[in-house]
Amino acid sequence: MSAQILDGKAIAANLRKAIQQEVAIITGSGQRPPGLAVVLVGDNPASQIYVRNKQKACEEVGFLSELIRLEPGTRESDLLALIDDLNQREEIDGILVQLPLPGQIDEETVIERILPTKDVDGFHPYNVGRLALRMPLLRPCTPKGVMTMLEHTGMELAGKDAVIIGQSNIVGRPMALELLMARCTITVCHSRTKNLAGKVRAADILVSAVGRPGFVAGDWIQPGAIVIDVGINRREDGKLCGDVDFTSASKVADWITPVPGGVGPMTIATLLENTLQAAKLHNNGG
Ligand code: NAD
Repeated sequence: MSAQILDGKAIAANLRKAIQQEVAIITGSGQRPPGLAVVLVGDNPASQIYVRNKQKACEEVGFLSELIRLEPGTRESDLLALIDDLNQREEIDGILVQLPLPGQIDEETVIERILPTKDVDGFHPYNVGRLALRMPLLRPCTPKGVMTMLEHTGMELAGKDAVIIGQSNIVGRPMALELLMARCTITVCHSRTKNLAGKVRAADILVSAVGRPGFVAGDWIQPGAIVIDVGINRREDGKLCGDVDFTSASKVADWITPVPGGVGPMTIATLLENTLQAAKLHNNGG
């Protein structure tokens, strides 16, 4: 193996420690701690785990954390009324509505109802638009976490060829905007892309967000590339793995993220970072 491991777990732990120290200074000076409200509609098992992890992370850094559980059959109008209430509450800086939502609720309507300065997921069209215009405010957590990891390689990003596999609203698209803002030349690939392997072979930076185990073969990787594996998949033996064939890719790449312990922990740490940022915006009258 020649690649260095981009250790998301360690980078995220440092980020969380820095946030914890900043929160201690804020509360030490008599100000209230940053507050995050997490809304969970229904009983999706994966969502319950994500929400629990987010709450635990909030408590560890000293945030106020509030979990609001709603019945699976909740009406959209009731969820919107709850968001209106959270938008008004001064001690709440961030509102996170865990996705996916049950079928009777329109996700876009819900996301758009959150005050953009409380949209700590960075999914509101206002925040995505600001990112597109190179004036980001609250940035989508997973792509922003990837940018923090890329900084840790110490590599100059400007001018690099970056290939993203996946075009979802939460990963692929904002990832492309982040890398473009870092002055990479970007190629966004998706299920209709022709000659995917050829495109990946030209990548100095590869970000894979497909959700299929072993999807990216090691011989697709350009020697010396940085490989970021966003995919989270469960193998037949119950273990987690990414999209990239780690064993073969790590022989060719210069840097690679493991799964688990790569992008996943960065997403949660970045959510905390965004909540702290939102608290600062609100304390400065934003
Ligand atoms: P999604 O299903 O919305 O998007 C998958 C993308 O893959 C689509 O844009 C699709 O066009 C593309 N795709 C599918 N088949 C393809 C093919 N044959 N060739 C090229 N592209 C193809 O998924 P998502 O929400 O963006 O998540 C992607 C993966 O990332 C999932 O495994 C998810 O669990 C994981 N994820 C991880 C984190 C994290 O924090 N690590 C956060 C979000 C998502």
